[in-house]
Amino acid sequence: MSILSLKDGNPVRTQAEQIPWPQKAPAACPISAVKARLRSVGLRPTRQRMALGWLLFAKGDRHVSAEMLYEEALRAREPLSLATVYNTLRQFSEAGLLRQVSVSGPKTFFDTNVSEHHHFYNEDDETVVDIPGSEIQVSGLPVAPEGMMVSSVEVIVRLRRADAEETATKLAGGQRA
Ligand SMILES: [Zn+2]
Repeated sequence: MSILSLKDGNPVRTQAEQIPWPQKAPAACPISAVKARLRSVGLRPTRQRMALGWLLFAKGDRHVSAEMLYEEALRAREPLSLATVYNTLRQFSEAGLLRQVSVSGPKTFFDTNVSEHHHFYNEDDETVVDIPGSEIQVSGLPVAPEGMMVSSVEVIVRLRRADAEETATKLAGGQRA
């Protein structure tokens, strides 16, 4: 599988304890762990799903857009179309392997960490970083409409680089309207 030779510039976090897989020893053989992960949610481990599953799940928790994953597949010489990447991401999400994070407009990231947590979104470089679920307390939630219940609350904290003037104002303790 050509994808095994993939190297990219991302910081790689491959310690087994950071990969919340159901298997006991995922680090021993990531390929079979990807296969088991697909099978555990009833998805047949086709070549395309295996290739994308490997890119998604073998590096610890990640947030990727369809376009990013498509680029990675190209670099790994996996002949996949962008439509296939979209379809596979949708299937993985529906199966509960991924969580969708919508940050702005049509931009959607797919999160391999499906546990409850929140996100920083850096508007300058369009990156998403986890905020642990325990670090944000949401109070004053409205009562759900009749017959409904709150299923989840996701907070996205948007970031942008403060310019020199704003930084100076902040340091001086001043507040601008
Ligand atoms: Zn996340």
